[in-house]
Amino acid sequence: MTRITRRRLGLGLATVAALAATPLSGMAQSDRSKVALPTISRRKVGKVEITALSDGFVDIPIGVFTGAPTPEIEKAFARHFARRPDGTYRLGFTQWLVDDGDRLVLIDSGYAGATKTTGHLADVLTVLGVEAKDIDAVLITHMHDDHTSGLVTPEGTHAFPNADVFIHRDDVAYFTDETRAAAAPDILKRSFAVGKQVAALPRLQRYDGERSLTAAISAVDLRGHTPGHMGYRISDGGESLMIVGDALFHPAIHPGRTDIGIAFEPDPAAAAAMRRKLFPRAAEEQALLAATHMPFPGFGRIVREKDGLLWAPADWELSG
Ligand SMILES: [Zn+2]
Repeated sequence: MTRITRRRLGLGLATVAALAATPLSGMAQSDRSKVALPTISRRKVGKVEITALSDGFVDIPIGVFTGAPTPEIEKAFARHFARRPDGTYRLGFTQWLVDDGDRLVLIDSGYAGATKTTGHLADVLTVLGVEAKDIDAVLITHMHDDHTSGLVTPEGTHAFPNADVFIHRDDVAYFTDETRAAAAPDILKRSFAVGKQVAALPRLQRYDGERSLTAAISAVDLRGHTPGHMGYRISDGGESLMIVGDALFHPAIHPGRTDIGIAFEPDPAAAAAMRRKLFPRAAEEQALLAATHMPFPGFGRIVREKDGLLWAPADWELSG
């Protein structure tokens, strides 16, 4: 264990103890259910520690998915007991903290305070004893605002002042294009607005193609969901985990249906091509994946069964 890890662990336990001792104990029973519990799951890849952190959720209409008639997609969600009575489903937002013993890397930054039910990332980091200034790098899978909003403080400054921010060059170019911003549909307007703020941050590193970003993390080409959508492969000691961002949304549709995408995708054909390439390859490699919006913590594998490709959630990694 590194010095940094021990320090964080100590602070984390103290914070949890403080949370347990003060606010909850004074609460009426009815208030307890309103406390947003820290949502955390940790696993190891070799010696690298990966902690999945939830920023919260939004209930979104199933009609936001494209490529098949909405009633057909609603039926698929209902079969998974994931369709809510009002035709929505609960979309979660996961980020990952990667500690390789040397550097502390955050992958994606969440939706922040864009809705009432998101913006928990900062509190979850606090529970772990991690302060914003401790983060050495932030890797962004793509520039939709549910992945970038946490990078910018309400004052417009860098939320992680000591972190280099890595984003594929094509996403930075796309989401700072004034002509595209002006023509963007309403659901994408905020991504362009946040994108402009992100592009102005100090320490932004635009990168090209597949490359190594830290000793344990390399960028993987998953372009298609957006022009610069990238995955991040974490490897150590012969093990690996691939963060695949928005390649998969929910087991009701992915990996089974590569033709189903989401309205946020500027080029649906490119998004479908990315899924057609990634899903069978991941099944063949039995690759451990992590996806932003798959049910928390979103670790799992794509497996081939006689009916096609299915999602097999990874066992929760218990440790003592
Ligand atoms: Zn997303």
